[in-house]
Amino acid sequence: MAEHPVFDIVVLGGGSGGYATALRASELGMSVALIEAEKLGGTCLHWGCIPTKALLHAAELADGARESEKYGVRSTFEGIDIEKVHTYKDGVVNRLYKGLQGLVKAHGVTYVEGYGKLVSADTVEVDGQPYQGKHVVLATGSYSRSLPGLEIGGRVMTSDQALTLDRVPQSVIILGGGVIGSEFASVWKSFGADVTIIEALPNLVPNEDPAISKAFERAFRKRGIRFSTGVRFQGVTQDDDGVHVTLEDGKTFDAEVMLVAVGRGPRTEGLGYGEQGITLDRGFVITNERLHTGVGNVYAVGDIVPGLQLAHRGFQQGIFVAEEIAGLKPAPIVESGIPRVTYSEPEVASVGLTEAKAKETYGEDQVQTLEYNLGGNGKSQILGTQGFVKLVRQKDGPVVGVHMIGARVGELIAEGQLVVNWEAYPEDVASLVHAHPTQNEALGEAFLALAGKPLHAHN
Ligand SMILES: Cc1cc2nc3c(=O)[nH]c(=O)nc-3n(C[C@H](O)[C@H](O)[C@H](O)COP(=O)(O)OP(=O)(O)OC[C@H]3O[C@@H](n4cnc5c(N)ncnc54)[C@H](O)[C@@H]3O)c2cc1C
Repeated sequence: MAEHPVFDIVVLGGGSGGYATALRASELGMSVALIEAEKLGGTCLHWGCIPTKALLHAAELADGARESEKYGVRSTFEGIDIEKVHTYKDGVVNRLYKGLQGLVKAHGVTYVEGYGKLVSADTVEVDGQPYQGKHVVLATGSYSRSLPGLEIGGRVMTSDQALTLDRVPQSVIILGGGVIGSEFASVWKSFGADVTIIEALPNLVPNEDPAISKAFERAFRKRGIRFSTGVRFQGVTQDDDGVHVTLEDGKTFDAEVMLVAVGRGPRTEGLGYGEQGITLDRGFVITNERLHTGVGNVYAVGDIVPGLQLAHRGFQQGIFVAEEIAGLKPAPIVESGIPRVTYSEPEVASVGLTEAKAKETYGEDQVQTLEYNLGGNGKSQILGTQGFVKLVRQKDGPVVGVHMIGARVGELIAEGQLVVNWEAYPEDVASLVHAHPTQNEALGEAFLALAGKPLHAHN
């Protein structure tokens, strides 16, 4: 068997976290082996962020065709050609996939195809072949979880199957009203399905500020998306007619298919992590704030590390670990400073602390909030969207939270992210000019109002 050099870094898993580690490490002059069992790019590129956003774009066009009369544009919505939707979606994924393969190659990363296992603190084995690294980075990602006793198969599917479904179902039950469940609900409703969401917690998008969750529920209700909140799922049966769901309060729901979107579990089982002394908690890899596992020179990044399961968090953690290994002493990543977007119609975007979390952190009377309604924003009126921006600031201090709901607000979070992470005061940013008419102006107006000089605000 061929002898391999000892790499500076061996990365296990080529998703967002793993490939970002590899790219940044090679930029810093390190030799890297990147081991991937399936497809470079991982969940986000092939089964997550990108394909779902392509579906959401097609959904937006479908809504546009339906509603165009309102804007004086004659068109009729004739339906969804799902095969063409998939061709478009796969085309986007494939172009990005090719680009990523080119990037990894151009960086001189040694790409290893195969299933790896950690066999010692500095070695990953793939098909009997050892890859030794001065450092090892674990980045094996996550999988769609189910509930105990709830089997995936037939009409009961996860996002993996939903993304390649060969038809628009007549009706669908979605178990889970978090980000993934809400995005699929939005797509399917726009595509013409009858959609019901079942969420055990009291609200849809339950991790968001309650004001946002409430507005989101109102918007979904207005779109005709049905939902049940606050009651737990009990069981499901399936037959030729469809799926039959029962909740713990005895209520029943029927539909053609069911999507299980109850979260994602860490992909760490059987990979040798525990055997090498790495601490696991319900399968997640425990690290310190510098993403070190406490064993040898082993680090972990991405969805296997407890916290927000988001691709851009994985990228940033990958960059961080590469720089840490290179001795650049990067600043630890502040989890609350990571922006979060739900790309449904309407979109939800947030960064920093909710009002409740800010009060918990700074004290009940040490927090100020401000809501700016998109009703006062020209571009939002042109788009025909409703929603608001909610700012949370430490009293007489910096902005610590930005929360938004409305069409396209995901694109506005870039500014919110800068303001929160730079710990800017509303008074500092209020004088920075926003182009008119943009939706960005809504943020500018909110900063103006919070700085005590509202312009286009009614209260
Ligand atoms: C439907 C859906 C929509 C999403 N939308 C968004 C979004 O819009 N924005 C966002 O930020 N995030 C989104 N996410 C989350 C995002 O996809 C993940 O946070 C991100 O992919 C995590 O990156 P990762 O590198 O930790 O893991 P992954 O992307 O899961 O990559 C892990 C890789 O490791 C490989 N691997 C695992 N075990 C082994 C092994 N033993 N040997 C070799 N290779 C192995 C896997 O094949 C995989 O390619 C979405 C997820 C889903 C499911």
